[in-house]
Amino acid sequence: MTEKKLPFTKEELEQISTKFPTPFHIYNEKGMREYARKFVDAFSWNPGFKEYFAIKATPNPFIMKILRQENFGIDCSSMAELVLAEKVGMRGEEIMFTSNDTPAYEFKKALELGAIINLDDFAHIGYLEEKVGLPELVCFRYNPGSLKEGNAIIGHPEEAKYGFTREQLFEGYKILRDKGIKRFGIHTMVASNELDPEYFVETAHILFELIAELHQTLGIRFEFANLGGGIGIPYKPDQQAVDLERMSAGIQDVYNKFIVGNGLSPLKIYFESGRAITGPFGFLVSRVLHIKNTYKKYAGLDASMANLMRPALYGSYHHITVLGDEENRSKFMYDVTGSLCENNDKFAINRVLPKIMTGDLVVIHDTGAHGHAMGFNYNGKLRSAELLLRENGEVAEIRRAETLEDYFATLDFGEAERFEV
Ligand SMILES: *Cc1c(COP(=O)(O)O)cnc(C)c1O
Repeated sequence: MTEKKLPFTKEELEQISTKFPTPFHIYNEKGMREYARKFVDAFSWNPGFKEYFAIKATPNPFIMKILRQENFGIDCSSMAELVLAEKVGMRGEEIMFTSNDTPAYEFKKALELGAIINLDDFAHIGYLEEKVGLPELVCFRYNPGSLKEGNAIIGHPEEAKYGFTREQLFEGYKILRDKGIKRFGIHTMVASNELDPEYFVETAHILFELIAELHQTLGIRFEFANLGGGIGIPYKPDQQAVDLERMSAGIQDVYNKFIVGNGLSPLKIYFESGRAITGPFGFLVSRVLHIKNTYKKYAGLDASMANLMRPALYGSYHHITVLGDEENRSKFMYDVTGSLCENNDKFAINRVLPKIMTGDLVVIHDTGAHGHAMGFNYNGKLRSAELLLRENGEVAEIRRAETLEDYFATLDFGEAERFEV
């Protein structure tokens, strides 16, 4: 196993923690920018290529500003995410609205912003038209059902709540065509945290072939194919990141065959990746409060699953580095825990780590996506700060930690006192 790298030394992190108390998430700007450029470069053969960052992964305006500077768009699926896009000055077709079970006011907001509206359901065509009106560009989310094996995480597409069936897709585009709509896109997303580049090539193959069929049957042309998110990251030290060059080359092959070959180019390729963009560049930094020896050894941190839910929610592996003089410490097996009154509040179970001592700094890797974002307040746990390690080495606080005042803000203690029981 190769050790996973950190963008800071123990000394630097100790220094940072004197100003910003643990726990906190810290994001590495340099890493994010480098990956963003690599992603865009890999698809330079496709004019109009765009990655719409799935903002749910790390809904922070500082992060979105950085990614926008790298020519990313934003993928939103809720009112708050649309407003966040608006607040960082994003408008029009740099916003993708991929939602499901959508309330009318969200469609209305998306339409006002000029976002690309990606419809999740056949019935949403009529709903959208009746409640807010049809946009000039419409995209449908395709669920290939049993035609495509879902990956291990998303499972079988026919069990997934998302998207149109194949028949609905043909019918839906026909309805829109007959209503005079002229601009079309298509979307699918059938994987989550997938590390095999071939998987995305197959997804592109399915969409490109479908575009050719839809063109043949209905005479409509497509502006873009959105291949969704789901690009995985190597959470474990022995895993490999998705080879973007290889993925792109494979997609280019099927593009040439089905799009160029049928006279349907240019077709813009879009992604709405979240995890791969920010995941590996975020770290949850925490301090060891207690070492407990009972039937097992426990290292109790000052962070909890309220700061990072993935291990408890999905049993996900997150690599852990103990910042001590690692080489000189003997190894022991630990459960690394938080303080929630939930026995699944564990960042790792039976993990072999260098001897951990009270007061040690512990870094949990790959928390840059679906980390802070999934935070919650159960047990009165407050959400932590988010920090940004700038390219020049400076550290900026890009979200302050929550206070008890924030936590109690929706309660009225005065009213409670007057309340007769
Ligand atoms: C979550 C989500 C994404 C991003 O998925 P990642 O696994 O973070 O890449 C993209 N599109 C939709 C519709 C999603 O729900």
